[in-house]
Amino acid sequence: MEFSSKILERAVNEMSQLPGIGKRTALRLVLHMLKQPKDQTIALVEALRTMREAIKFCKSCHNISDVELCEICANPSRDTSLICVVEDIRDVMAIENTSSFKGLYHVLGGKISPMDGVGPHDLNIESLVEKVKAGKIKELFFALSSTMEGDTTNFYIYKQIQDYKIFTSTIARGISVGDELEYADEVTLSRSIVNRVPFENSLKL
Ligand SMILES: [Zn+2]
Repeated sequence: MEFSSKILERAVNEMSQLPGIGKRTALRLVLHMLKQPKDQTIALVEALRTMREAIKFCKSCHNISDVELCEICANPSRDTSLICVVEDIRDVMAIENTSSFKGLYHVLGGKISPMDGVGPHDLNIESLVEKVKAGKIKELFFALSSTMEGDTTNFYIYKQIQDYKIFTSTIARGISVGDELEYADEVTLSRSIVNRVPFENSLKL
């Protein structure tokens, strides 16, 4: 792509670093920004800058939050003995939308994926195991998507906490293999949370 302006080229190159945005789309977005009022582009840049500089992760569940302890962890009516293990904030949002879950979450920040160079130590697994060791958790509910990476992650965590007397469960049928949690419709997801099954049933031993 030949540019008549180095400034424009730089903006397009930066924009095209985003996932799913090729050079053509980046150019379309940049040209759109040039057409819209200057204030609107500056507001976007400011929102992104504030997000990068000010956003926090909940010290207990690792969910994205504006404060030290997120709203869910700070809510006294939530069941602190039930922890739902998820990949990221999108899963928390999808499950919260169903209103079917009253426990707390633990956000791993990804899934174990050797292909992408993500090992157990890159994820928030240690703090989860610590929570289990502390003895206040009765049930660990695995709600990772049923992909190979999701299954590997569930199994890795299960092995770490197997010797502690807690019940482990996983999402029930309805979420098919390979489905990402965030794309499941609310009714299906809600049903699979309410009817969650013992994790051991999902293992092919
Ligand atoms: Zn939290």
